[in-house]
Amino acid sequence: MPKSAVQSNIPQQWRVEPVKETSISLLCPACHKRLSFNTNIFAKGAATSVDDLTKTDQFVYRSYGQNILAFVAALIVYYYAHQWVNGEGAPLNQGILIPVFIAVIAYTIIKPFFPASLFGGKGIPIYNYKCDQCRADVFFACDGKSLALPALDEAKSREAEKMQAAKSEHLETPCNVSITRLPSMIGSAMDVRVFLNGDDMGVLKNGKTLDFTTENSINVLTVKYHADATTNSVTFNAKSGDSVRITLKYSGAILTVS
Ligand SMILES: [Zn+2]
Repeated sequence: MPKSAVQSNIPQQWRVEPVKETSISLLCPACHKRLSFNTNIFAKGAATSVDDLTKTDQFVYRSYGQNILAFVAALIVYYYAHQWVNGEGAPLNQGILIPVFIAVIAYTIIKPFFPASLFGGKGIPIYNYKCDQCRADVFFACDGKSLALPALDEAKSREAEKMQAAKSEHLETPCNVSITRLPSMIGSAMDVRVFLNGDDMGVLKNGKTLDFTTENSINVLTVKYHADATTNSVTFNAKSGDSVRITLKYSGAILTVS
């Protein structure tokens, strides 16, 4: 693929998380293969020695600095607009309609003038990896300290899971599937939603089990955390009339198939 075509595929929305371990792992969005990379290859930001892993010339910037600065600027605009509309010395909580209107317009106009790169430091370099299983383009950003993954369009991900399962073999007798969420104090009040091949299987509460069946030989099970909308997926094989047990450890969203 020519370089420009790859660049234009780079996602625009990113989810940044700190790197806690000596390796990072992510899922191929196309085939859900789990990909792992040693963190230290990103630490220096140098070109990597990993096959099919290339650094793009783009970066992920955190944008909170931009928002805060535009907000502060809007507050100042609000203050002066308020004094101008209501006269000097008028309490700031009175006659707010017009000043708020002016401040909101100011905020909208001001925001693009603060480039995110000014406040996000150097940014996190975006890498492109050709999945060694399906050759799909996988994009992620890592500088050794932070990992950024594209914020996927959820409907699209579920659709892709559905398509993948539909391509697999149809089982004569359905296979039983159960997922058990291990009891844990962490996140105990938080719900987890379970999807099988893109279909909503319901809510999985702390310490509980959900039972369902599948008629596909290859399946993708996805858990979606209510707390922060993060997801994790596992691909598993099912045999006719067999049963598959999956456990979920809430902390770290660790899915284990047995
Ligand atoms: Zn793949």
